[in-house]
Amino acid sequence: MIDKIGVIGAGAMGNGIAHVCALAKLDVKLVDVSEDQLKKAMDTIRFNMERQVKRNLITAADEKAALGRISTGLKIDVLGDCDMVIEAATEKEQVKKDILKALCPVLKPTALLASNTSSISITRLGAVTDRPSKFIGMHFMNPVPVMQLVELIRGLATDDETFTATKVLAEKLGKTTATSEDFPAFIVNRILQPMINEAIYTLYEGVGTVDSIDTAMHLGAAHPMGPLQLADFIGLDVCLAVMQVLYEGLADSKYRPCPLLVKYVEAGWLGRKTGRGFYDYSGDKPVPTR
Ligand code: NAD
Repeated sequence: MIDKIGVIGAGAMGNGIAHVCALAKLDVKLVDVSEDQLKKAMDTIRFNMERQVKRNLITAADEKAALGRISTGLKIDVLGDCDMVIEAATEKEQVKKDILKALCPVLKPTALLASNTSSISITRLGAVTDRPSKFIGMHFMNPVPVMQLVELIRGLATDDETFTATKVLAEKLGKTTATSEDFPAFIVNRILQPMINEAIYTLYEGVGTVDSIDTAMHLGAAHPMGPLQLADFIGLDVCLAVMQVLYEGLADSKYRPCPLLVKYVEAGWLGRKTGRGFYDYSGDKPVPTR
C-alpha cells in the first residue's frame, strides 16, 4: 500500500506530481537542492489548485487538505519513511545516478523507486540502486494535473509486484497508463521529440518562421499547440537531452539534434521557464523571436 510518497526535483514535473499525489490523499515530501525552486513549486501548486477550485473540479476544502499533506525539504534524508520515491530531477544521467545512489541507504527496504525520466534507460538507472527489481519508469506528462497519461517502463529487472503497484498508484491518481519497453525515449518521446526536432530544422533552414511553423501544425495537423510552442513549454534543455539519448542510444543520424536547438540551450534560452525560447515571454503575450 502506497501512502507516503517522496518526490525528488521540484521543477515543472515535480510540482505537478506532488500536486496530484496530495489530491489523491497521499502524504508527499517534495525535495529539491534549491530553496527557491521549492518555494516556486509550492506557489505553483497553490495557484493551480485555486484554478481547479474556480472550475469546480475540486473544493476549497480539498485544496486546503491537499496543501497540508505536502512538506518540502532540501535533503533526501527526510524520505526514510516513504513507501515510494519518484525521482523527477534534471534530465541528466549522472545527476539521476548520483541521486539514486545517495537515496538508497536512506530508504526503507520495502520502498519502491521510480524515475520520471523522459528518455534515459530504466535498466541502467535501476542498476545503480540496491533494488533494481523495485525500480520502474513512471513517466508523467506535462502539465501533470491536466494530462491523462502515465507511461510505465519496466527495466529488465523490474518485478511484477512493482509494476502492478505502480499501475494501481497511477490509476489512483486518476491517470491512464500505457506500457513501453525500455528503449531510448520510450514511446511518447520517441515519436514526439523527433517531430519537434524536425520543426526546429524547418526553422533553421528558413523554410518557415516560428509563427508559420506553429500555425501550420496547429491548424494543418490539428495539434493543440504548434511544435515550437510545445518545445518552449517542455523546456529546450529537456528536448535536447532526449534527442541526445535517441541519437546516442539508437546510433542513427536521423536523430541528430538540430544545431539551432543546441545553440538555444547554450544561450540559456530554455523556453517558458527562463522567459525566452522560440518565443519571448516577457510581455503580456508570447512574441516569436524569429
Ligand atoms: P526542471 O528543470 O523544471 O526541474 C528540475 C528540478 O530538479 C530543478 O528544480 C532542480 O533544482 C532539481 N534538481 C537538480 N538536481 C537535483 C538534485 N541533485 N536533487 C534534487 N533536485 C535536483 O525539469 P522538469 O521539466 O521538471 O523535468 C524533470 C524530469 O521530468 C526530467 O527527467 C524530465 O526529462 C522529465 N519530464 C519532463 C517533462 C517536461 O515536459 N518538462 C515531461 C515528462 C518528463
